[in-house]
Amino acid sequence: MRWRLADAADEPALFTADELFLPDLGTGRMSDLEFLHITAKRILNHVPSGSRAPTNWTINVYRGCSHACSYCFARPTHEYLGLNIGEDFDRKIVVKINAVEKVRAELADPRWSGEAVAMGTNTDPYQRAEAKYRLTRGVLEALAERANPFSILTKSPLVTRDLDVITQAATSAEVSVNFSIGTLDERVWRATEPGSPHPRRRIDAMAKLAAAGIRTGALVAPILPALSDSPAQLREVVGAIRDAGGRLLGIGPLHLRPGVREHFLNWLRDADPDLHADYLRRYATSDHAPGRYVDLLYSRAGLTRRR
Ligand code: SF4
Repeated sequence: MRWRLADAADEPALFTADELFLPDLGTGRMSDLEFLHITAKRILNHVPSGSRAPTNWTINVYRGCSHACSYCFARPTHEYLGLNIGEDFDRKIVVKINAVEKVRAELADPRWSGEAVAMGTNTDPYQRAEAKYRLTRGVLEALAERANPFSILTKSPLVTRDLDVITQAATSAEVSVNFSIGTLDERVWRATEPGSPHPRRRIDAMAKLAAAGIRTGALVAPILPALSDSPAQLREVVGAIRDAGGRLLGIGPLHLRPGVREHFLNWLRDADPDLHADYLRRYATSDHAPGRYVDLLYSRAGLTRRR
Protein backbone atom coordinates (compact mmCIF):
# COMPACT_ATOMS: atom_id res chain seq x y z
CA MET A 1 0.00 0.00 0.00
CA ARG A 2 1.25 3.47 -0.80
CA TRP A 3 0.22 6.70 0.85
CA ARG A 4 -1.09 9.52 -1.17
CA LEU A 5 -0.15 13.01 -0.08
CA ALA A 6 -1.85 13.71 3.20
CA ASP A 7 -3.35 17.07 4.06
CA ALA A 8 -5.43 17.26 7.21
CA ALA A 9 -6.93 20.25 8.99
CA ASP A 10 -3.97 21.02 11.21
CA GLU A 11 -1.37 18.75 9.68
CA PRO A 12 -0.46 19.56 6.10
CA ALA A 13 1.53 17.14 3.93
CA LEU A 14 2.84 14.44 6.19
CA PHE A 15 4.29 11.86 3.88
CA THR A 16 5.25 11.60 0.28
CA ALA A 17 3.48 9.15 -1.99
CA ASP A 18 6.26 6.59 -2.01
CA GLU A 19 7.14 6.41 1.66
CA LEU A 20 7.07 2.86 2.99
CA PHE A 21 5.52 1.73 6.20
CA LEU A 22 5.28 -1.56 8.02
CA PRO A 23 1.95 -2.70 9.46
CA ASP A 24 2.28 -4.16 12.92
CA LEU A 25 -0.54 -6.19 14.46
CA GLY A 26 -1.26 -5.53 18.12
CA THR A 27 -0.99 -8.30 20.66
CA GLY A 28 -2.52 -8.95 24.09
CA ARG A 29 -4.70 -6.01 25.14
CA MET A 30 -4.06 -4.48 21.72
CA SER A 31 -4.89 -7.53 19.61
CA ASP A 32 -7.84 -5.66 18.08
CA LEU A 33 -5.54 -2.93 16.74
CA GLU A 34 -3.29 -2.58 13.73
CA PHE A 35 -0.44 -0.10 13.78
CA LEU A 36 0.67 1.55 10.57
CA HIS A 37 4.22 2.81 10.91
CA ILE A 38 5.14 5.90 8.98
CA THR A 39 8.09 8.23 8.88
CA ALA A 40 6.71 11.74 9.23
CA LYS A 41 8.31 14.60 7.38
CA ARG A 42 7.77 16.86 10.37
CA ILE A 43 6.25 16.67 13.83
CA LEU A 44 5.65 20.28 14.86
CA ASN A 45 2.56 21.34 12.92
CA HIS A 46 1.69 24.96 12.41
CA VAL A 47 -2.03 25.48 12.94
CA PRO A 48 -3.81 27.19 10.03
CA SER A 49 -5.39 30.52 10.83
CA GLY A 50 -9.02 30.15 11.81
CA SER A 51 -8.39 26.87 13.65
CA ARG A 52 -9.84 26.51 17.14
CA ALA A 53 -6.64 24.92 18.49
CA PRO A 54 -5.44 26.57 21.71
CA THR A 55 -1.95 27.34 20.33
CA ASN A 56 -0.21 28.01 17.03
CA TRP A 57 1.61 24.68 17.16
CA THR A 58 0.44 21.13 17.71
CA ILE A 59 1.98 17.68 17.89
CA ASN A 60 0.01 14.52 17.15
CA VAL A 61 2.24 11.45 17.14
CA TYR A 62 -0.66 9.14 16.28
CA ARG A 63 -3.52 9.32 13.83
CA GLY A 64 -6.74 7.49 14.47
CA CYS A 65 -7.75 6.78 18.05
CA SER A 66 -8.65 3.55 19.79
CA HIS A 67 -10.85 5.42 22.28
CA ALA A 68 -13.38 5.16 19.43
CA CYS A 69 -15.70 7.97 20.50
CA SER A 70 -18.78 7.94 18.29
CA TYR A 71 -18.80 11.75 18.10
CA CYS A 72 -15.06 12.17 17.45
CA PHE A 73 -14.33 15.39 15.55
CA ALA A 74 -11.04 13.97 14.19
CA ARG A 75 -12.51 11.06 12.23
CA PRO A 76 -12.27 12.82 8.84
CA THR A 77 -8.46 12.99 9.21
CA HIS A 78 -8.35 9.27 8.41
CA GLU A 79 -9.94 9.80 5.01
CA TYR A 80 -6.89 11.72 3.87
CA LEU A 81 -4.98 8.48 4.26
CA GLY A 82 -7.34 6.39 2.16
CA LEU A 83 -8.78 4.80 5.31
CA ASN A 84 -12.39 5.04 6.47
CA ILE A 85 -13.62 7.24 9.28
CA GLY A 86 -15.42 4.42 11.06
CA GLU A 87 -13.74 1.19 12.10
CA ASP A 88 -10.42 2.07 10.43
CA PHE A 89 -10.20 5.22 12.56
CA ASP A 90 -10.78 3.15 15.72
CA ARG A 91 -8.48 0.22 14.88
CA LYS A 92 -5.85 1.22 12.30
CA ILE A 93 -3.62 3.58 14.18
CA VAL A 94 -0.99 5.52 12.28
CA VAL A 95 2.22 5.71 14.31
CA LYS A 96 4.85 8.33 13.49
CA ILE A 97 7.74 6.17 14.54
CA ASN A 98 10.36 8.87 14.04
CA ALA A 99 8.44 11.41 16.19
CA VAL A 100 10.98 11.73 18.98
CA GLU A 101 14.11 12.12 16.87
CA LYS A 102 12.22 14.49 14.57
CA VAL A 103 10.93 16.72 17.34
CA ARG A 104 14.40 16.93 18.87
CA ALA A 105 15.77 18.15 15.56
CA GLU A 106 12.95 20.65 15.06
CA LEU A 107 13.26 22.06 18.58
CA ALA A 108 17.03 22.47 18.06
CA ASP A 109 16.51 24.47 14.88
CA PRO A 110 17.53 28.09 15.59
CA ARG A 111 14.41 29.23 13.73
CA TRP A 112 12.13 27.48 16.23
CA SER A 113 10.25 30.17 18.20
CA GLY A 114 9.84 28.26 21.47
CA GLU A 115 6.07 28.82 21.40
CA ALA A 116 3.70 26.63 23.39
CA VAL A 117 2.79 23.31 21.79
CA ALA A 118 -0.58 21.57 22.24
CA MET A 119 -0.93 17.78 22.23
CA GLY A 120 -4.27 16.02 21.95
CA THR A 121 -5.86 18.30 19.36
CA ASN A 122 -6.41 15.63 16.72
CA THR A 123 -5.96 12.31 18.47
CA ASP A 124 -5.42 11.21 22.05
CA PRO A 125 -1.68 11.24 22.88
CA TYR A 126 -2.33 8.67 25.63
CA GLN A 127 -4.50 6.24 23.70
CA ARG A 128 -3.59 2.55 24.06
CA ALA A 129 -0.79 2.71 21.46
CA GLU A 130 1.19 4.97 23.77
CA ALA A 131 1.67 2.15 26.29
CA LYS A 132 3.53 0.28 23.54
CA TYR A 133 5.37 3.04 21.64
CA ARG A 134 6.01 5.69 24.36
CA LEU A 135 6.29 8.38 21.70
CA THR A 136 4.35 10.98 23.68
CA ARG A 137 6.71 10.43 26.59
CA GLY A 138 9.71 10.90 24.30
CA VAL A 139 8.23 14.13 22.92
CA LEU A 140 7.61 15.41 26.47
CA GLU A 141 11.22 14.67 27.39
CA ALA A 142 12.42 16.64 24.37
CA LEU A 143 10.14 19.59 25.24
CA ALA A 144 11.22 19.49 28.88
CA GLU A 145 14.90 19.54 27.94
CA ARG A 146 14.28 22.73 25.95
CA ALA A 147 12.02 24.30 28.62
CA ASN A 148 9.38 24.54 25.91
CA PRO A 149 5.83 25.17 27.22
CA PHE A 150 3.18 22.59 26.35
CA SER A 151 -0.34 21.47 27.08
CA ILE A 152 -1.90 18.01 26.92
CA LEU A 153 -5.54 17.07 26.43
CA THR A 154 -6.40 13.42 27.04
CA LYS A 155 -9.05 10.96 28.15
CA SER A 156 -6.54 8.59 29.68
CA PRO A 157 -5.01 8.16 33.14
CA LEU A 158 -1.94 6.75 31.35
CA VAL A 159 -0.70 10.35 31.42
CA THR A 160 0.22 9.87 35.09
CA ARG A 161 2.85 7.33 33.99
CA ASP A 162 4.79 10.41 32.80
CA LEU A 163 4.29 12.48 35.93
CA ASP A 164 8.06 12.52 36.49
CA VAL A 165 8.71 14.19 33.12
CA ILE A 166 5.73 16.53 33.45
CA THR A 167 6.76 17.63 36.94
CA GLN A 168 10.29 18.29 35.79
CA ALA A 169 9.06 20.25 32.73
CA ALA A 170 6.79 22.37 34.93
CA THR A 171 9.81 23.67 36.87
CA SER A 172 11.03 25.60 33.83
CA ALA A 173 8.05 26.12 31.52
CA GLU A 174 4.30 26.58 31.56
CA VAL A 175 2.71 23.14 31.46
CA SER A 176 -0.88 21.99 31.76
CA VAL A 177 -2.55 18.59 31.58
CA ASN A 178 -6.26 18.61 30.93
CA PHE A 179 -8.89 15.95 30.53
CA SER A 180 -11.91 15.61 28.34
CA ILE A 181 -14.81 14.34 30.45
CA GLY A 182 -18.26 14.68 28.93
CA THR A 183 -20.07 12.72 31.61
CA LEU A 184 -19.63 10.40 34.56
CA ASP A 185 -22.76 8.52 33.56
CA GLU A 186 -21.50 4.96 33.07
CA ARG A 187 -24.21 3.98 30.61
CA VAL A 188 -23.58 6.97 28.35
CA TRP A 189 -19.79 6.57 28.60
CA ARG A 190 -19.94 2.89 27.59
CA ALA A 191 -22.22 3.63 24.65
CA THR A 192 -20.40 6.65 23.25
CA GLU A 193 -16.71 6.18 24.13
CA PRO A 194 -16.36 2.38 24.10
CA GLY A 195 -12.55 2.26 23.90
CA SER A 196 -11.77 4.96 26.45
CA PRO A 197 -10.83 4.58 30.11
CA HIS A 198 -13.60 5.01 32.69
CA PRO A 199 -14.22 8.72 33.34
CA ARG A 200 -13.80 8.19 37.09
CA ARG A 201 -10.23 7.10 36.39
CA ARG A 202 -9.69 10.41 34.60
CA ILE A 203 -10.93 12.24 37.70
CA ASP A 204 -8.50 10.21 39.83
CA ALA A 205 -5.66 11.06 37.45
CA MET A 206 -6.60 14.73 37.66
CA ALA A 207 -6.44 14.58 41.45
CA LYS A 208 -2.99 12.98 41.26
CA LEU A 209 -1.73 15.71 38.93
CA ALA A 210 -3.24 18.47 41.07
CA ALA A 211 -1.64 16.99 44.18
CA ALA A 212 1.71 17.07 42.36
CA GLY A 213 1.23 20.79 41.67
CA ILE A 214 0.50 20.41 37.95
CA ARG A 215 -2.00 22.80 36.38
CA THR A 216 -4.90 20.56 35.49
CA GLY A 217 -8.60 20.66 34.72
CA ALA A 218 -11.24 19.36 32.37
CA LEU A 219 -13.33 20.26 29.42
CA VAL A 220 -16.84 18.92 29.95
CA ALA A 221 -17.62 18.03 26.36
CA PRO A 222 -19.28 17.07 24.24
CA ILE A 223 -22.58 17.24 26.04
CA LEU A 224 -25.09 15.08 24.19
CA PRO A 225 -28.68 16.33 24.24
CA ALA A 226 -31.02 14.01 26.12
CA LEU A 227 -28.11 11.69 26.95
CA SER A 228 -25.76 13.64 29.21
CA ASP A 229 -27.35 17.06 29.68
CA SER A 230 -29.55 16.63 32.75
CA PRO A 231 -28.90 18.93 35.74
CA ALA A 232 -27.89 15.93 37.88
CA GLN A 233 -25.39 14.66 35.28
CA LEU A 234 -23.85 18.09 34.75
CA ARG A 235 -23.59 18.89 38.45
CA GLU A 236 -22.04 15.50 39.13
CA VAL A 237 -19.19 15.95 36.65
CA VAL A 238 -18.55 19.61 37.49
CA GLY A 239 -18.50 18.78 41.22
CA ALA A 240 -16.09 15.87 40.70
CA ILE A 241 -13.66 18.09 38.77
CA ARG A 242 -13.76 20.69 41.53
CA ASP A 243 -13.28 18.06 44.25
CA ALA A 244 -10.26 16.67 42.39
CA GLY A 245 -8.59 20.09 42.43
CA GLY A 246 -9.08 20.72 38.72
CA ARG A 247 -10.31 23.79 36.84
CA LEU A 248 -13.42 23.69 34.70
CA LEU A 249 -12.25 24.74 31.24
CA GLY A 250 -15.73 24.93 29.79
CA ILE A 251 -18.90 23.05 28.98
CA GLY A 252 -19.41 22.34 25.32
CA PRO A 253 -22.28 20.78 23.41
CA LEU A 254 -21.97 18.30 20.57
CA HIS A 255 -20.67 19.77 17.33
CA LEU A 256 -21.47 17.77 14.20
CA ARG A 257 -19.03 18.93 11.55
CA PRO A 258 -19.39 17.40 8.08
CA GLY A 259 -18.22 13.79 8.01
CA VAL A 260 -18.59 13.42 11.76
CA ARG A 261 -22.25 14.31 11.37
CA GLU A 262 -22.97 11.34 9.09
CA HIS A 263 -20.94 8.91 11.23
CA PHE A 264 -22.52 9.99 14.51
CA LEU A 265 -26.08 10.11 13.20
CA ASN A 266 -25.71 6.65 11.63
CA TRP A 267 -24.50 5.34 14.98
CA LEU A 268 -27.38 7.01 16.81
CA ARG A 269 -29.96 5.69 14.35
CA ASP A 270 -28.90 2.15 15.25
CA ALA A 271 -28.55 2.88 18.97
CA ASP A 272 -31.80 4.81 19.49
CA PRO A 273 -34.10 5.55 16.53
CA ASP A 274 -36.29 7.97 18.52
CA LEU A 275 -33.33 9.98 19.68
CA HIS A 276 -31.98 9.95 16.13
CA ALA A 277 -35.15 11.69 14.95
CA ASP A 278 -34.78 14.22 17.77
CA TYR A 279 -31.14 15.00 16.79
CA LEU A 280 -32.13 15.42 13.13
CA ARG A 281 -34.52 18.14 14.27
CA ARG A 282 -32.03 19.75 16.67
CA TYR A 283 -29.21 19.84 14.12
CA ALA A 284 -31.40 20.46 11.05
CA THR A 285 -30.08 23.92 10.22
CA SER A 286 -26.64 24.03 11.84
CA ASP A 287 -23.75 21.78 12.84
CA HIS A 288 -23.62 23.70 16.13
CA ALA A 289 -26.05 23.69 19.03
CA PRO A 290 -27.67 27.11 19.51
CA GLY A 291 -26.16 29.57 22.00
CA ARG A 292 -29.24 29.39 24.21
CA TYR A 293 -28.66 25.65 24.66
CA VAL A 294 -25.10 26.35 25.86
CA ASP A 295 -26.50 28.90 28.33
CA LEU A 296 -28.96 26.24 29.49
CA LEU A 297 -26.13 23.74 30.09
CA TYR A 298 -24.28 26.21 32.31
CA SER A 299 -27.41 27.04 34.20
CA ARG A 300 -28.21 23.34 34.71
CA ALA A 301 -24.66 22.88 36.03
CA GLY A 302 -25.31 25.68 38.53
CA LEU A 303 -22.87 28.03 36.78
CA THR A 304 -22.95 31.31 34.94
CA ARG A 305 -21.49 31.24 31.47
CA ARG A 306 -18.62 33.70 30.99
CA ARG A 307 -18.41 34.99 27.42
S1 SF4 B 1 -10.38 10.50 22.64
FE1 SF4 B 1 -10.52 12.33 21.34
S2 SF4 B 1 -9.37 11.80 19.51
FE2 SF4 B 1 -9.81 9.88 20.56
S3 SF4 B 1 -11.70 9.08 19.64
FE3 SF4 B 1 -12.27 10.28 21.47
S4 SF4 B 1 -12.68 12.37 20.73
FE4 SF4 B 1 -11.51 11.28 19.13
